[in-house]
Amino acid sequence: MAFTLNSFPVVYRAKHSEEGWRDEYLERPHGTPEEEAAMDAARREALEEARNCYADMPLLNYTTQYGLGCFEGLKAFPRKDGSLAIFRPEMNAARFARSMAGLRMPPFPEADFTLACVEMVRRNAKLGFLPRYNPAWEKDTFASAEAGYIRPFAVAEGGIGVNLSRHPWVMMVATRVGAYFSGASDAVVTNRFRATPNGTGWIKAASNYAIATLAKSEAIDAGFMECVFLDSTERKYVEEGSSCNIFFYLKSGELATPALGDTILPGITRASIIELARDMGITVNERKVSIEEAMDETAECFVCGTAAGAVPISSLTWNGRKAAFASGGLSAQIQAAIKGIQYGAVPDTKGWMTQVL
Ligand SMILES: *Cc1c(COP(=O)(O)O)cnc(C)c1O
Repeated sequence: MAFTLNSFPVVYRAKHSEEGWRDEYLERPHGTPEEEAAMDAARREALEEARNCYADMPLLNYTTQYGLGCFEGLKAFPRKDGSLAIFRPEMNAARFARSMAGLRMPPFPEADFTLACVEMVRRNAKLGFLPRYNPAWEKDTFASAEAGYIRPFAVAEGGIGVNLSRHPWVMMVATRVGAYFSGASDAVVTNRFRATPNGTGWIKAASNYAIATLAKSEAIDAGFMECVFLDSTERKYVEEGSSCNIFFYLKSGELATPALGDTILPGITRASIIELARDMGITVNERKVSIEEAMDETAECFVCGTAAGAVPISSLTWNGRKAAFASGGLSAQIQAAIKGIQYGAVPDTKGWMTQVL
């Protein structure tokens, strides 16, 4: 499984009050990585559960009851030169502050976000929990490479009346991750809508994931790996994958991705790919892409996000029609460019990596 609940021992926690933010690093129950690896499954699960349970946080709150919560996802990469670095944390910091403000929570300071990511990962690395660089990863251009996944999230204070969160917690935990998807995926257009105009689609809100999770599980039940959302107004334009942005490399040579609006999540992988593709001399346009155009004019299609990188979509099914796409061309080049920067096989000329160790 790509995402296990084996969270690393050191956790960051900040709490808002009238005086502002107060933070701490918590060292949760743990053994050494070797001791934990040697444990039988039942003991390890008990330990992992203990690490994930916080007796001093209220279960009844505006996040668990009403979905007023948001989160981030970013990665720390073990690099070829032996260092450890996080990919564009300042971008996640800015988006997290926008998400919190969008939910009318006090936004978490961006500089503190980046510092906390770095320090939390550093402390876990010192305990030996981060994966080490493995030269064997280079053989498949880091498709099977591991990383540390950082999950910052906001949790509301206790309460049961329908209310805004005025004094939330911000927490950051990390876990080890490997490849998220392997190979190309068949996708299907879902008839559900992830986001509606004037809603929360632009916020990385926990509540958005209810519909996305249902749509993806329905796609899997129908024999697909991924689902694609259309806009809810005209039911005509492609918006996103289940929890990732989407690109179409058209037969004309143009790389098109749906333009941002309030129903599309502004992905950091999306923004990075736009920049990298332009550097490669490709014409990239952020614009409306109709499902008809996507079906008829696409040479290659891929979805992207922190968890997945850039994953090729081998076919798209819509209204009983199936369009098949090539893979291994541009999507592989993009994947190699982005993973190369992250794992340090390619120079980081854009200053995207923030050093941890
Ligand atoms: C997180 C997320 C993405 C991808 O964003 P990245 O910053 O690239 O990880 C895309 N769509 C949705 C709905 C998301 O929640």
